[in-house]
Amino acid sequence: MSSPGLDAAALEQFRRLLLEMKRAAADAVDARLHGRGEDRHDEAGLPLHKEETDDDAAAETQRQADVAHLARSATALHEIESALARIDEGEYGHCVDCEEPIDLRRLQAQPAALRCARCQGLFETLKSRAGARG
Ligand SMILES: [Zn+2]
Repeated sequence: MSSPGLDAAALEQFRRLLLEMKRAAADAVDARLHGRGEDRHDEAGLPLHKEETDDDAAAETQRQADVAHLARSATALHEIESALARIDEGEYGHCVDCEEPIDLRRLQAQPAALRCARCQGLFETLKSRAGARG
C-alpha cells in the first residue's frame, strides 16, 4: 500500500482539522436541541415546538426539520470519528473500498472523506438506488 503523501505533520494537521469539525458538529447538535432557550423536550429528546405555535402542522414540520438536521449531524460526526480512527490506525488517506490513496486535494476539501472520488460516486449511486426502492 503506497502512501498518499501524508507525512506526520500533514496527518497532525488533518487530525486537528477533524477535531475542530467534530466540535463544530457537536455544537450544532447542541444548538439544535437546546438553542432558543428551549428546555422542554419530548420523549425522543427533541425540542417541543407545540409551545411556539398552535399549528400542529407547523410544529410537525419543525420537528421533521430537527430530525433531518440531527440525522445529518450524526452522519457527519460518524464520518469524522471514522477518519480520526483511521489516522490512529495509519489508514487515513486511503479509500475504504478500493484502498487506493485518496487525492490530497479531495482530502483537503473534505478531511472526513473515507472514499476516493470514484468509489464515493459509486457508493452514492448505489445508495440513491436503494433509497428509490424504499
Ligand atoms: Zn476507492
